[in-house]
Amino acid sequence: MYFLLFYDIFISTNISGSEKTKEMGRRKAKNKIKNWIISLIVLIFLGATGYYGIDYIDSSRAKITSSLSIENSNLIDFNNDKLNIMFFYVGQADSTFIKLNDFTMLIDAGNNEDGTKIVEFLKEKGVNELDYLVATHADEDHIGGIDDIIKEIDSIGELFIPTIGSSGNDYKNAIKEANDKGVVIENPVRGDTFYLGDAKCEIMSALEDEDVSDNDSSIVIEMTYNKTSYLFMGDAGKKVESSRQWNRVDVLKVGHHGSNSSSTDDFLKQVKPQYSVIEVGKNNSYNLPNSKAISRLESAGSKILRTDKADGENPGSFLFTSDGNTIDIKEISITLDGNS
Ligand SMILES: [Zn+2]
Repeated sequence: MYFLLFYDIFISTNISGSEKTKEMGRRKAKNKIKNWIISLIVLIFLGATGYYGIDYIDSSRAKITSSLSIENSNLIDFNNDKLNIMFFYVGQADSTFIKLNDFTMLIDAGNNEDGTKIVEFLKEKGVNELDYLVATHADEDHIGGIDDIIKEIDSIGELFIPTIGSSGNDYKNAIKEANDKGVVIENPVRGDTFYLGDAKCEIMSALEDEDVSDNDSSIVIEMTYNKTSYLFMGDAGKKVESSRQWNRVDVLKVGHHGSNSSSTDDFLKQVKPQYSVIEVGKNNSYNLPNSKAISRLESAGSKILRTDKADGENPGSFLFTSDGNTIDIKEISITLDGNS
């Protein structure tokens, strides 16, 4: 818009310069001054309203507010008609719970020691059924607690699990519990879609090549709820990130605990997350999150939330609540780390 305005001024200036007669020249000079004044008024107006252009770009994104106060876990109530996403602190591991009305999904269940802690918390909050239980991949810090979830939660709709890593003990334990309980087991593939209430979920990746690593076999899920969108990466790295085009999302669950092998510049240029959540253990031996990955996320303009320093210092969880247009973030002092 500014460009057009200056173009206008430029054109009017040139036209007046080409006039021959004094009479016409005077009239044109008056017009020229008039044009300049009108342009100046418009420019001042645009400046005073905070520049219409920027406002316009922002209005296409979900508005996100974050509450600075630390909430007591007793105050958490999932019985609302909003989308609730809780990123648990489970030490050096992942677990994310999602609820929309009566529909529920748990993505990963931390290490072996974390499963019962997650169950205890969910039951305390009145969650006795899961429509979807997702083991993003076969590494213990994601699949370890899955068997306890299946055993102790009353009803599980479907278990999503990749085909890679099936020889591992934690994977076998999860499958055994699912079979004992008669849970439907699915190996989702890229492009599959399903709904959690009104929230649309799409499998963005689930690599099955024989030479693919456990991390890159991660089931990656994009969730869209009205104007808001979320991308859960599991431990997917650059191989997955470069395997397709990505949509812009509001919230990114960062791949592989903020490792340098995930969150590449090309990927972040597409995803442009407003907020990035890193589930990571305090003082973990892998020295995660990696400082280069953090820099790339910051350069992409994303605000970073880390479960190891949820309040800036201590571990904790994050609860995102959305009505589909806006997202509110609360830091919760709860930890479900069975190894601490
Ligand atoms: Zn992991």
